[in-house]
Amino acid sequence: MGGSCPLRGCCMMSIAELRDRQSMSLEFKIRYSTLKIQEWYEHFNGQVCVSKSGLDSVVLLDLVRSVYPDVPAVFVDTGQENATVVDHNKSVPNCIFIKPKKNFYDVVQTHGYPVISKLVSRYLSDLQNPNDRNHVTRKLRLTGIRGDGTRGNSVMMLPQIYRYLINSGYRFSDICCKILKKKPLMQFQKEFKLYPYIGTMAVDSQVRELSYLKSGCNAFDACSPCSTPISIWTRQDILEYASAKSLPYPACYGSIISCPAGLKTTGEQSTGCEACLFGIRQDPLRIERIKTWSPARYNFFMDSLNYRSLVPLLISPQMDLFGGAL
Ligand code: SF4
Repeated sequence: MGGSCPLRGCCMMSIAELRDRQSMSLEFKIRYSTLKIQEWYEHFNGQVCVSKSGLDSVVLLDLVRSVYPDVPAVFVDTGQENATVVDHNKSVPNCIFIKPKKNFYDVVQTHGYPVISKLVSRYLSDLQNPNDRNHVTRKLRLTGIRGDGTRGNSVMMLPQIYRYLINSGYRFSDICCKILKKKPLMQFQKEFKLYPYIGTMAVDSQVRELSYLKSGCNAFDACSPCSTPISIWTRQDILEYASAKSLPYPACYGSIISCPAGLKTTGEQSTGCEACLFGIRQDPLRIERIKTWSPARYNFFMDSLNYRSLVPLLISPQMDLFGGAL
């Protein structure tokens, strides 16, 4: 493997080290990410690709192609992406479109809804699907006590504020991303022997932060090896880079403008699948906004996916079925 990253040995780092890197200048992060990109490329002899979706991956693709202009991009068209994201990726040179075998409706019907966050959905799924093999896991999700009687990390428990969802009449699961995005990408990777760069950041979610702390940017030894070279970037870094380089990006974001907190987009702040209910508490009007540009899709969500009752259930204060008002 080539490269002489001064930050080699970053795996299994502490949260303080991550915060330190996240606070570095954009110039530092560009150098850091470029070294990670080179490490990955050299390790796999150039058999790599960039997973494309919204603005974060626009920046990632620019970083990768600044060093290796011929690296292909791959876009997983889940059928749930904003139309302007699809259009943008059609305009990206050398961008291959792939599709999952199932659609969002099938996934929800079979496994349940992705809501709040991956961890919350996974823990709800554990608790809603009791069987002989998962009683230790269920106890951990409710009490934080492991099978050996020791107390686990609080992150292993379902927070009290979401426990009313266990018996809400809806089924939840975190498997959707695996079926609609990861599986098609893995099959593509297997068929064409290309190892992906993915534009995720530790600031995106607890799962991504833990993943970075565990493996660093380049997960060479993971069962599905992948590189996340912009893991230490923040949302502001993405906007600053895209703005400084005048990169084309999907129209749904609007323009990048200055505000008291730094930079922001005048349209969507982030994109992903339109029907996704991850992060709904942080942006409770996200599904409502779809009505303005895609009324047919909005009506489908409201009526066929039962969002008319599910979304209010997720965003309003509820009673904790394990005891008292929250
Ligand atoms: S982002 Fe949400 S809707 Fe899209 S694949 Fe992942 S879980 Fe499913």
